Amino acid sequence: MAILVTGGAGYIGSHTVVELLNHGEEVVVVDNLRTGHKQAVTGGTFYQGDISDRKFLDSVFAKHEIEAVIHFAASSLVGESVQKPLDYYENNLIASHALVSAMIDHGVKKIVFSSTAATYGEPKSIPILESDVTSPTNPYGETKLAMEKMFRWSDNAYGLKSISLRYFNAAGAHPDAMIGEDHNPESHLIPIILQVALGQREAIGIFGDDYPTEDGTCIRDYIHVMDLANAHWLALEHLRKNNTSDVFNLGNGTGFSVKQVIETARQVTDHPIPEKVSPRRAGDPAVLIASSEKAQSVLGWKPQYNDLKTIIATAWKWHQANPKGYNDK
Ligand code: UDP
Repeated sequence: MAILVTGGAGYIGSHTVVELLNHGEEVVVVDNLRTGHKQAVTGGTFYQGDISDRKFLDSVFAKHEIEAVIHFAASSLVGESVQKPLDYYENNLIASHALVSAMIDHGVKKIVFSSTAATYGEPKSIPILESDVTSPTNPYGETKLAMEKMFRWSDNAYGLKSISLRYFNAAGAHPDAMIGEDHNPESHLIPIILQVALGQREAIGIFGDDYPTEDGTCIRDYIHVMDLANAHWLALEHLRKNNTSDVFNLGNGTGFSVKQVIETARQVTDHPIPEKVSPRRAGDPAVLIASSEKAQSVLGWKPQYNDLKTIIATAWKWHQANPKGYNDK
């Protein structure tokens, strides 16, 4: 039986496909390639198409015996979601509704879901626990939370078992640099810093240095993409063994400020990486740090890349080998 990975040509999806293949899973990838890259799909059977297209989904479910779905396909930019909320409701919630309907009709009752720390909104306490209040501050987090709830109600009504994985800041690349992070336009901190080191940008703009943190810049919990990928496989195994719905945070449990990330990247790249302070970005909480104790104790998850320098070094290897991202391939 196969695992269907939606959005498997995207950043976290493509690394998860590698992890699944390493564990001997049969993999089917669907991706509309609006933001994903065909070259990022390193194995399995690939179909280009949209999960909101019911005929397309039906044909995939008819061709393969699907045991479970790992669902990444979504729009995932906080700022864009504030500008275009209806796109986010359509691409995230309505498209997932189509996917879940097809799953139920085809008797597929297991889903691992790519959720986000943005479901919490401004945290009341640090580190953030799964039992904390969820109060998103943007449509991205709001639609992901609505999807989590849709899955839970679908468990109640149809027996759909879901594991929602709330990621903190995904970073790094496959250690062999065969796949990595490539967004167009890029908006994430570490790839932008590395573009400065590659000479593609003049400086890194720090979005605000007047936050209530030690150096005034935002603190985030950076987690390696291969550790995230491994958590998806563990979640799948957990569903196979226990068949119960649940939600888990995925982070390293350690926070780094924007300035600390820049300084670490200077050490990794041996480049001065000039910085300048820019205005705050709307909707950025000062500090986001996960408690991932639940994932560690229940799923047996142990992040392997818990050192920021190593995380950035894997990203640097990818960016050096592919300065234009997948356009180099
Ligand atoms: N950030 C920054 N300059 C940039 C991009 C990001 O200062 O050019 C900051 C951002 O405000 C946040 C942190 O870096 O505090 C991580 O941002 P990113 O967009 O990578 O991830 P997010 O936290 O939004 O998921």
